[in-house]
Formats: sequence, C-alpha cells, structure tokens
Amino acid sequence: MRFNIAVVPGDGIGPEVTGAAVEVLKAIAKKYGHEFEFKTYIAGGGAIDKFGEPLPKETLEGCMASDSVLLGAVGGPKWDDLPVSIRAEKALLGLRKGLELFTNLRPAVIQPALKDACVLRPDIAERGFDIMIVRELTGGIYFGERGRNEAGDTAYDTEIYSVYEIERVARRAFEVARKRKNHVTSIDKANVLESSRLWRETVHRLGETEYPDVKLDDMLVDNAAMQIVRDPSFFDVVVTSNMFGDILSDEASQVTGSIGLLASASLGESQRGLYEPIHGSAPDIAGKDLANPIAAILSAAMMLRYSFDLAEEADEIDKAVSDVLLEGWRTADIKEPGAETWLKGSEMKQKILEKLR
Ligand code: NAD
Repeated sequence: MRFNIAVVPGDGIGPEVTGAAVEVLKAIAKKYGHEFEFKTYIAGGGAIDKFGEPLPKETLEGCMASDSVLLGAVGGPKWDDLPVSIRAEKALLGLRKGLELFTNLRPAVIQPALKDACVLRPDIAERGFDIMIVRELTGGIYFGERGRNEAGDTAYDTEIYSVYEIERVARRAFEVARKRKNHVTSIDKANVLESSRLWRETVHRLGETEYPDVKLDDMLVDNAAMQIVRDPSFFDVVVTSNMFGDILSDEASQVTGSIGLLASASLGESQRGLYEPIHGSAPDIAGKDLANPIAAILSAAMMLRYSFDLAEEADEIDKAVSDVLLEGWRTADIKEPGAETWLKGSEMKQKILEKLR
C-alpha cells in the first residue's frame, strides 16, 4: 500500500520523537512491502521565528493533501509571552480546524512490564487495562454560548449538542470498538442534564440500528470517574462529550504511569487523522537525548490502525514496544526509583527497531 504522511516535528523534543517514529514506520514499510512517503512541515515556535506565524499556509495545505499527519509537540518558554493570536498552540487549533477533526482518541493502557509504576492498588494493576477514550472535540460546553450579566457577578456556559454531532462521534466509537473488544460504554450525566438525555437516546438508536453487534452500556460520569480507579479493566471503548472526555482522559492517562508512553489521535469524517503523543515539547530535556520516543511510536502505530487499516503492522509495533519493556529496558522517565542505568531516547528507539527486523 502507498501512503503520504505529513510530519510536523514542532519544537523541543518534537523532532527527536517524531524522528524515531518515522524510522519505525520506515522499518514496517520495508518489512511489509508498503510505500510510505514522508514530507516534513514546520509549525509552532519554529514557524513563528521563521515566518512570524505558528501555522504557515504551506504546512496546513501540505497536511490537508496528505493521507495522515504525524505531529511532535509545539511551544516552549521562548514563545510563551507572545500575543494569543500568534501563540505556538494556535498551530494545533488551526490544524484541527483545517483538517475538520471532531473526535479525539486517547488510549490509556497499562503496559504489563510497568504495573509497578501504576498508581492503582497492585491487585487492580495486576488485572491490567486497555481503555480507548473517544472524546467529542468541537462541540459542547467549550463552544456553547457563554457570558455574564451586566453586574458581572453571574456567569453562564452552555452545554449544547445536536443529534448530528452525537451521531458522528458515536459512529467513530462503534467503529473503533469493532477493531478492539466490541464494547462501548457511553458516559453522560443523563440523570440531570437534558443534553445528556439526548446523547444517550442518540447513541442507543445508532447502536441498535447500525451496530447491533457491538455491546453498548451507559455510565454516569461521576461513576465513571470512580470506576477508572476501581475497576479500569471493565472498559474497552468509552465515548463521551468534550468536557467529560477532557477530564476522564487525563484521569485515565495518569493511572497508567508515564506521560512518555501515551499516544493520541484526532479524527474527522475522512480516513485522514492527526496523530501525536500527549506530552508537550518538554523544553527541560530537549536536545539531551532523554526523551522517551514510545508515545510518538505508539501514535504512529495508531495511524496504521485507524487511518490506513493496517492492523497487523500496528500490532507488531505495539508488541515490539511491550516486548522491549518486558525485557526490562527503560528510559530515564520510566526507570525504577534508584536504578543507576537507563537508555537514552535514541537507544530505546534502536531496541524497538531491532524487534521489527
Ligand atoms: P510536557 O509534557 O512538555 O512536560 C512535562 C514533563 O514531562 C517534563 O518534565 C518533561 O521533561 C516530561 N516529559 C514529557 N514528555 C516526555 C518524554 N517523551 N520523555 C520523557 N519525559 C517527558 O508539558 P509542559 O512542560 O507543561 O509543557 C512544555 C511546553 O509544551 C509548553 O510550551 C506547552 O505549551 C507545550 N505543550 C504542547 C503540547 C502539544 O503540542 N500537543 C501539549 C502539552 C504542552
């Protein structure tokens, strides 16, 4: 198969980790006889320095013309004091808008080798978990009408969802579940909120008519927040609104251990997605070969699975990562307390590449 991949390394450790992910993709392409063509584009702080704007037209157009986008991270202290309109983070918002991405996928997986780093009780960590949080990204209370009264002592925000918006994110969740364990849990606050009652009705109608093969259940958001720490192995795919997803995905990612391990994807109507590690540009370790490349490498695996339908190849990358960890190899961010040796970022990449030959 042939795919065009736009690479946006960004700032700080972005180029280090996307570089590692590109090498992994090249290794997989070679092994399976695919042709991946990579084009690199500038965005974020580097683009502000060079072109005076965080998302140059050429970058956006290049990403829109690609089959998928692999992004590192943008921003850093050098650009923190700029006016909001040209902040580095604007590149992310511009890309999401330009690529019409309305769904965010955030996996929270406990690596068998890293159970000890999990903040949960050992018996819960022992059972393991692999949750995919599918969050609506462009609607709800973050985009609803808001304001204050004249005196300024009363404020409001509006949670607003249409059937169309709920259906398109739920459809994504059902499709993702079909590539996993076929189980969707829809999370809402239907005991209080009218928008949640519409959410629940819509997800059920869609499930019954288009995805009867996928198991569907509901959970109230307060209960879900508890179950993520009490019994995370219950969940497969979780689908939820923008605000609930924002909070639950951060909660779920924290219980897994290191930020250097967590991937993400943003998807729209088309097959094209934006794949990126959840961490930022980590200016404190940039250029020191300390960045853990695993989150970016797992983001590349998600691209193969969700945009290119290459499940076997994605599985192979996931397995290479978990095997390297099972063998005991660690970067500085995931080493055991007191450990005196660990791998540099480039050495971790090399270990993973060795598994893919
Ligand atoms: P961060 O994720 O960059 O770093 C937080 C901590 O985690 C740091 O100690 C860092 O060294 C460590 N860390 C992060 N990724 C790591 C990796 N792969 N391996 C090892 N350690 C890792 O968050 P921050 O410090 O709050 O933000 C730094 C900059 O990144 C800011 O300018 C922020 O705006 C930007 N940011 C960008 C994105 C993005 O591009 N999606 C996301 C978050 C933050």
